[in-house]
Order: sequence, then structure tokens, then C-alpha cells
Amino acid sequence: MRRLVVLGAGTAGTMVVNKLRRRLGGDWQITVVDESDEHHYQPGYLFLPFGSYAPTDVVKPTRRFIPDGVELVTGEIAKVISDDNSVLLADGRALAYDFLIVATGATPRPDQTPGMLDGGQWRESIHDFYTFEGALALREKLRKFTGGRVVVHVVEMPIKCPVAPLEFAFLADAYFRGRDMRDQVELVYVTPLPGAFTKPIASAQLGGMLDERKIALEADFVVERIDADRKALVSYDEREVPFDLLVTVPLNMGADYVARSGLGDELNYVPVDKHTLLATGHENIFAVGDASNIPASKAGSVAHFSVEVFVENFLAHVAGRPMTGSFDGHANCYVEAGDGKALLIDFNYETEPLPGTYPLPHIGPFHLLAETRVNHWGKLAFRWMYWHLLLPGRPIPLPAHMSMAGKTIPAKQPERQEV
Ligand SMILES: Cc1cc2nc3c(=O)[nH]c(=O)nc-3n(C[C@H](O)[C@H](O)[C@H](O)COP(=O)(O)OP(=O)(O)OC[C@H]3O[C@@H](n4cnc5c(N)ncnc54)[C@H](O)[C@@H]3O)c2cc1C
Repeated sequence: MRRLVVLGAGTAGTMVVNKLRRRLGGDWQITVVDESDEHHYQPGYLFLPFGSYAPTDVVKPTRRFIPDGVELVTGEIAKVISDDNSVLLADGRALAYDFLIVATGATPRPDQTPGMLDGGQWRESIHDFYTFEGALALREKLRKFTGGRVVVHVVEMPIKCPVAPLEFAFLADAYFRGRDMRDQVELVYVTPLPGAFTKPIASAQLGGMLDERKIALEADFVVERIDADRKALVSYDEREVPFDLLVTVPLNMGADYVARSGLGDELNYVPVDKHTLLATGHENIFAVGDASNIPASKAGSVAHFSVEVFVENFLAHVAGRPMTGSFDGHANCYVEAGDGKALLIDFNYETEPLPGTYPLPHIGPFHLLAETRVNHWGKLAFRWMYWHLLLPGRPIPLPAHMSMAGKTIPAKQPERQEV
């Protein structure tokens, strides 16, 4: 028997075991480990604070998505001992492997910013929506909110779904208008980036949307600490942004066991070859999904497209053949704009988000970098696709590699420089 151990039964780990169970023969034993017995549809966290999704829309039992013939182990991973090809769990169990796939994602770490957790304001006037508990606590806070200065804030990049905080700001604008109290709310978007987003064309478009909604942009803001008593963000260059309600996206980091195992960079992400996802310096360890350090968005769509390429490469690799597939960093993200509209962005390592149509030239039905109702329906339909097609590893008729078909390069580029 050859043993494959997959660490993490989130988006990427679940897709991988479903696809590989069908493709690897009966001489392979596949085990997947997760500390939780619940699978969370994290894109749904965005909608929980506004009451448009219920908890049951985003949480389902992990076991439901693990196929027959794959062993699901519930337990916390404590360490990978790569010299010994084994994984230690916190309860003392050990799992031996021939091949290891790290898929333990990224986690928000409010403990990493002074004053965030320890200032007495966490889940009082400082909230997050990147966790299930945080999104639900924020829902209660918003229900009771009577007005004031709402600051939507990103500590540092990279974060999961880098457009999600912008989406939160757009939805907050619509939410307060819907409650007829927008004039009692000052909305501010605070980011360490020089603009609303990382790439110039999308940054100009999304920055324009902030302007239209009268959401102030505070760019280049690298937070040093939160002064919880005075309710203010304080930056390294000594700027201050006061708030009545702070909705922050804490620093995102890979799992701590990755660092303990000597497999991670300074943020606990596993350095890999960005085309094959093979861990640097290892021949039998891969990292898929948010857990790796590839310079792509940390997004479920990236996990999906990369797993398509990864599976063929993995089958070749274990058979002793060269890996010929090359992941291009393809990301495809809907951006909720409020009022039942959304944008779509489609890009990869080399090509920034461009205007046009997707997936078909001229026809769409989705529009790139434009607010449409069809895009919003696409975002809502994504939840059904996630549970019924993506997680079970069923084929989806969209190419894994980004296509230029339907995209147009604007004649005049915005002046903002790429980060
Ligand atoms: C608010 C929000 C909105 C988002 N919106 C979108 C979107 O619109 N589109 C999109 O494509 N993506 C979106 N994403 C990103 C998407 O959810 C992630 O990129 C995706 O889930 C990554 O999959 P993953 O398998 O790498 O990690 P995860 O799905 O996070 O899975 C990691 C798993 O590892 C387990 N784990 C971690 N550490 C340990 C340990 N020590 N021991 C045992 N188990 C462990 C966890 O329990 C978890 O089950 C969003 C994310 C958030 C937070």
C-alpha cells in the first residue's frame, strides 16, 4: 500500500481527496485530517452580518463531502516530521505517509496586532467577519448600530479573498441606506495598499466605486497598533484613524504547526513551485489552496483551478514521470457591489483583471469589471456550485487556465502604479 495523507479537509483538501480517490488505484490508502468536523463555506461569511445568509447556508458536516475509501481523521495537527515521513497529532497519534499534501489554509490572527484582542474592545467596538463567530457577532452589532464612524480595515496583505473587505464596505453602504440611516454613518476604507486594490485597472474601478458611495479611502496605512481606549487605528507613520465601529481583517497566517515543522515562511505559508505546488526542497510534499506561498489570490477559485492542474501532475509524479502541467495563477472572483449587483474579475500571475465578458467573448453572460445583476446571480449561484460541484470534485466546464478570449486591454491605462 502507498499512503497519501492530506492535511486539512477545507476547500482544497476536500477537492483533492475526491478527485484523487477516483484516479488512484486500490493500492493507495488516502487519509485526510482536520481538527473540525464542520465544513464552512467561507465566502458566505460576507453575507452573515447583513442577515442575507443564515448559519445553515454556510456550515455542513465535513464527513458528507469525504468520499468512500478515504479515511477522515478528526484531530489537531501538531507537527510534520518530514525526515521521518510522519505527521504527529496533538493527541499523540502519528500518521505515516509516502506523499503529503498540506491544505490547512490561512487563518485570521487578531493576536498579531497590539491592542486588537487585548484592549478590551474585541467583539465590542472591534469586529471581524473572517470567522463564523465574528460574522455572527457583527450581525448583532449592526442590528443595534444607531450611527457613527464605521471603519473597514485590512491589516496586511495577503489575505483570503482580497476583494472581500471592499465588498463588505459596498454592502454596508447599501445596508445603511436600506435602513434609512446612511446619513448617520461615516464609512471609511483603510488599507495598506496604495489604492483600493492591488492591480491598477481594478484598483481604479473599485476606487471609483468607493468615491461614488462616499466611502473615504485611507491608503498606504500600515497599522502599528490599535488604541482601544481612544478607539483609533495608529499607523507606523503616526497617522490615526478614529472609529466607533471597526470591522477589521486581521493578519492572515498559515497554521502554526507549519512553522513548528520547518515547512513555512515568516507567515507560515509553505514555499512551493508556483506552477506545480511541490514544496521547495521536498520531493513528496505538496501544498494546495491558501496554505502555499504562491503569488496568487488566496481564493476558493484559485484552489479549484490549481487542483485541476495539480491532480494530473501528482499522478505523473507518483508514477515517476515528469510533471508537465503548469498552473498559471488563475483567479476568478465575484465582487458584490450592493443593490443586487456585482462585478467579476478574472486574472492570473501575468495578466491583471481586465474589462470584457466571461466566459464567452461578447456573449458573457458575465461582465468583467462592470456592475451587473447577472454577476450578482453568479455570486449567489456559486454557493450551490461549491457544495454540489466543486467540493465533490465534479467536472466544471470552465478551463483551469485563464483565457484572453473576451478580454479587452483599455487603450488608456490608469496612472496608478502596480503594487
Ligand atoms: C470572508 C471570506 C470571503 C471569501 N470569499 C471568497 C469568494 O467570494 N470567492 C473565493 O473563491 N474565495 C473566497 N474566500 C476564500 C476561500 O474561502 C478560501 O480561499 C478557501 O477556503 C481556501 O481553501 P483551503 O482548503 O486552502 O483552506 P480552508 O478552506 O480554510 O481549509 C483549511 C482546513 O484546515 C483545517 N486546519 C487548519 N489548521 C489545522 C490544524 N492545525 N489541524 C487540523 N486541521 C487544521 C481547518 O479546520 C480547515 O478545515 C473567502 C474567504 C473569506 C474568509
